Amino acid sequence: MSTKSRQTIYGGRIMGAEIRAQGAREAAKRAARDADRAEAEAWSIRMEGYGGPAQPSSTIGQCLNGGLGWLEVECNRCKTRASLPLDAIRRPRDTPLWKLEASLKCRSCMKGRHAPPVHIIKLTEGREITPYKWVHPGEDR
Ligand SMILES: [Zn+2]
Repeated sequence: MSTKSRQTIYGGRIMGAEIRAQGAREAAKRAARDADRAEAEAWSIRMEGYGGPAQPSSTIGQCLNGGLGWLEVECNRCKTRASLPLDAIRRPRDTPLWKLEASLKCRSCMKGRHAPPVHIIKLTEGREITPYKWVHPGEDR
């Protein structure tokens, strides 16, 4: 067989297979994103509707991947709410959200290193309420 006819026969098949592979990879990425979003959403609805349980929860990375990049929290004492961008929280991306609750602090209620607990309200796509100066996890060490 000549090089030319070989290329005609196999070249097209290789290209077709490569295109299918790329399509499948993109579909898998979309599916993972959809799954991450659905899981984060279910957790968020549970938190908002029933106040928990917070465990188990999605991770920071899963929420960001699923497009729910903001965490709304409320101070148990002054009831101030804040929207925190998850991508700005200095924690590994595989940190589950429930672990953040204990390290979030309301700045206006903080006395020295002591601060009243806060609780997570829900996840949102964007900032829904005015930003408020909160101490982010990781800033206090
Ligand atoms: Zn407060």
